[in-house]
Amino acid sequence: MARVDLDGKPIEPMTICMIGAGGFIGSHLCEKLMAETPHRVLALDVYSDKIRHLLEPESLPWAGRIQFHRLNIKHDSRLEGLIKMADLTINLAAICTPADYNTRPLDTIYSNFIDALPVVKYCSENNKRLIHFSTCEVYGKTIGSFLPKDSPLREDPAYYLLKEDASPCIFGSIEKQRWSYACAKQLIERLIYAEGAENGLEFTIVRPFNWIGPRMDFIPGIDGPSEGVPRVLACFSNALLRREQLKLVDGGQSQRTFIYIKDAIEAVLLMIENPQRANGQIFNVGNPNNEVTVRQLAEMMTQIYSKVSEEAALDVPTIDVSSKEFYGEGYDDSDKRIPDMTIINRQLGWNPKTSLWDLLEATLTYQHRTYAEAIKKAVSRPVAS
Ligand code: NAD
Ligand code: UDP
Repeated sequence: MARVDLDGKPIEPMTICMIGAGGFIGSHLCEKLMAETPHRVLALDVYSDKIRHLLEPESLPWAGRIQFHRLNIKHDSRLEGLIKMADLTINLAAICTPADYNTRPLDTIYSNFIDALPVVKYCSENNKRLIHFSTCEVYGKTIGSFLPKDSPLREDPAYYLLKEDASPCIFGSIEKQRWSYACAKQLIERLIYAEGAENGLEFTIVRPFNWIGPRMDFIPGIDGPSEGVPRVLACFSNALLRREQLKLVDGGQSQRTFIYIKDAIEAVLLMIENPQRANGQIFNVGNPNNEVTVRQLAEMMTQIYSKVSEEAALDVPTIDVSSKEFYGEGYDDSDKRIPDMTIINRQLGWNPKTSLWDLLEATLTYQHRTYAEAIKKAVSRPVAS
């Protein structure tokens, strides 16, 4: 049966140029496109490990529909040609781990703004549709965070709910280099919006709110650098796998809403296949029902990992660390991130499904199955003197 869009029209197979296809979100999006759609993917990245299972062996049912191009968009003349060959470009490429924002601010700004510029330009000049990945971090801090701690107004959604077309973007001072990422993402959003307004670029901007699941980031010392600091899911997974305490930055009081990657990918597929509903829009994509403090996240992950691994948890599973000790000078934090879902609901009728407990159980089962043996071997190996 022909697949139809939200307005009942048949969906024509398309070619998608996906930049950053070898990353966490890219790998899930490629999987979905190969398994459930007839679309072709030109997958661009410097790494392919997370999509190797889709590329090899060549006997896979979708082998002819996905093509990997190993390239760095900073300096590769093939980029424009690949964008021209596609109907739609999706740009996921970015430096997007908070540990880098204050320690490698130049790389962060170049990656999230300067390196994205040619992609926007080539799409605009060649009349190609663009889906650009921004971040919920463009909202920065909530208005409510500036109210006195005991103010009852902090309970009023008007002071914390993040709305695409109404909320301000509130960043810390310049020496708080944490905001280099958010600021670069905000400027590229404004540039894309202006290309739409002045030159007719057909664009969609996605603001992910803490998408998590299998293949996110790396486990330090196993499939990433020993001293590397990934995002919180991988930091906590690493500690659980090694039977170490989970580090709570500044007491773990910040709040986040976490969404299962598979729910979020459903939203992206709707955007891809319903251009008339997605063009010109900025979409929050998150799960407002899955809010916890980072401390609560640590407690929940500890409990679930103990169930999944059948190992008792440590007596004292967490430890407090200062942000200066953990991230270094210039770190700052978003206090609270709850997405308003009005626009995505209205345009695409999309809603997230998976509870935080269920998504953590699925993800920690994957982490245990994928890494537990490798960690045991790494830990038992004698340290070279
Ligand atoms: P990721 O780091 O796993 O993926 C990014 C990919 O881009 C990597 O595979 C990397 O190798 C590639 N890349 C980076 N620079 C490149 C370059 N110059 N040339 C070619 N490839 C390059 O991150 P992710 O979680 O998949 O995030 C994807 C996008 O979504 C990013 O733009 C990020 O800012 C945004 N985002 C994600 C989340 C989330 O919850 N995961 C939250 C907010 C924003
Ligand atoms: N965090 C923590 N311990 C860790 C890693 C992160 O307490 O080992 C905190 C971090 O300070 C932030 C939250 O967890 O408040 C989420 O961090 P993440 O790196 O996932 O990205 P963010 O949501 O800030 O973009």
